[in-house]
Amino acid sequence: MPERIAAATARGQRAALGAFALAGVLVVLLAGVFVHAQAQRVFLDDTARRGDTTLRLAVSTLAAQLDRFQRLPRLVAEQPVIRALAAHPGDAARIAAANLTLRHIAVTLGASDIYFMDPGGITRAASNFDQPASFIGGNFAFRPYFTQALAGGEGRFFALGTTSGKRGYYFGAPVRVDDRIAGVMVVKIDLDAIEDTWRGGDDEIVVTDPENIIFLSSRPDWLFRPYVQPDEAALARTRATRRYASLAITGEPLLTGLPGPDGLAPLADGRPMLALGERMETAGWKVTVLLDTALAKRQALVLTLAVMLALGLMLTLAAALWERRARLRERLAVQAAVRAELERRVAERTAELAALNARLGAEVAERAAAEASLRQAQADLIQAAKLAALGQMSAALSHEFNQPLAAVRNYAENLPALVDRGRTDEARGNAVRIVGLVDRMAALGRDLRNFARTPERGVGRASLPEVVRAATEVAGPRLRAAGAELAVTLAPDLPAVAGGPLRLEQVLVNVITNAADAVDGRADRRIVLTAEPTETGARIRVRDFGPGVPEALRERIFDPFFTTKGVGRGLGLGLSISYNIVKDFGGELTLVDPEGGGAEFRIDLRHATDEGVQAA
Ligand code: ADP
Repeated sequence: MPERIAAATARGQRAALGAFALAGVLVVLLAGVFVHAQAQRVFLDDTARRGDTTLRLAVSTLAAQLDRFQRLPRLVAEQPVIRALAAHPGDAARIAAANLTLRHIAVTLGASDIYFMDPGGITRAASNFDQPASFIGGNFAFRPYFTQALAGGEGRFFALGTTSGKRGYYFGAPVRVDDRIAGVMVVKIDLDAIEDTWRGGDDEIVVTDPENIIFLSSRPDWLFRPYVQPDEAALARTRATRRYASLAITGEPLLTGLPGPDGLAPLADGRPMLALGERMETAGWKVTVLLDTALAKRQALVLTLAVMLALGLMLTLAAALWERRARLRERLAVQAAVRAELERRVAERTAELAALNARLGAEVAERAAAEASLRQAQADLIQAAKLAALGQMSAALSHEFNQPLAAVRNYAENLPALVDRGRTDEARGNAVRIVGLVDRMAALGRDLRNFARTPERGVGRASLPEVVRAATEVAGPRLRAAGAELAVTLAPDLPAVAGGPLRLEQVLVNVITNAADAVDGRADRRIVLTAEPTETGARIRVRDFGPGVPEALRERIFDPFFTTKGVGRGLGLGLSISYNIVKDFGGELTLVDPEGGGAEFRIDLRHATDEGVQAA
């Protein structure tokens, strides 16, 4: 049972651990998504702040540069040298004077080029008059700054110089002579120096014209490329102003699409850039700072991974702790189950033992009752046997005594008449018979006295040859009367045996006379008596060839008052008395059924002991 509990708990725990792991992974993933979004926003904001600074710097630098030169054309246009030239555009001396003045101003103020155009658009005087790519003679009537200035306004234009092939910002101002516009004064400035300061920074800066063409950039390879896909009208406008001279704007757009609301613009090479832009209204430009978001994204990713890792570690730690606690709980549960099982078994065993005990108690009581009833039955039996023996004895005694008494009475009654008639011989004969009958009754009394002897008398010591001789003498008359032939065989080395010689003789006489009774009137009247030593003492055998003892009577012949002989021939006490005498000597009297018929009585006796006293 504890194993079952442990297995079930382990299964539940595994399932819980699995659910925990799944939930943990989900939590880590969700946290990752959240943290990544937040971190990316923070890092992008940071990037944007940096970009903003760069943008402001770029815009202010550009604006300052333009501001520096914007009033210069008007100032130069008011110079007498220029006015004089405007009044007489073809005059060589005036042209030469103007050329020198313009070069001086350009060098002094750091302008790229300063030149004068007549109302037809032809350049009459220029600061680079002595340069190989001089503007002199060039017609730039197609430039907007010329048309705007000729119309009385201030011309501004950014373009690639058709003669110099260099980018420049052009400021145009009308030259008035007598309230008439007699030409246009132009100052071209160079922005390359500003562009140079942008190179090598982390952020990319692009400046686009109103048609979205990049003309200033921190990256030279981005120059003269459309910022986004341009439409046909914008390209046509660019062509009309010859802004980029003969340069064809055919390059691939820098961005594959417009920046989204998050400010992220996809670069042609696939990098998403954060685009921050500001328009410079007077110049008609847009300055844009492009910031690479890769770093911010990498930082966000690293931070996210770090947070996920930390969270994962924390969850793993929590899971490990939880599992340890679960293991502990499981172990406690198993221990409790084992304890409960043990207690259950002990209780079971105790109950079994108690039941067994109760059963044993019942059995003991039953046995005691059975024993008591057995004892009662035995006592009843003994009582019944005693009564039966007493009945038997009374019947035998009354029988044995009544007959001689009746005869004595008969003889005694006749006696006076015989004496009266003088028949003295007969009277004497009667008296002799009376005495004989009284003797017989006295003998009966002796037998009874023997039966009632006390068995506690000392055992004594007897010599078998002597006892046998005395017994055969006593039994002699009876043997002779029966015509029996007694053959006695005694072993020469017979030991002295335990027993009183007279009582032993009485036993032998009894057995021999019984044998004589058995063979009386039979054809074979032999009686054989043998005595031989045994390991424990000696054995006497008295065997006759009479009818033997029937099987049914064998148990009873040793009972007192059991006899098969007629009245006056036996009381049935002989074998009973003999049996008890031999028993008193520590020996045994048994009947055997010998081969060849007849009966054999065996008297087994023990060796005599030294302390034995010679007794009767
Ligand atoms: P009693 O001689 O007065 O009858 P016992 O006790 O000596 O009494 O003998 C009991 C009975 O045993 C006898 O009546 C007889 O039937 C039987 N018995 C004894 N000895 C012999 C024997 N040698 N052969 C046959 N029967 C015997």
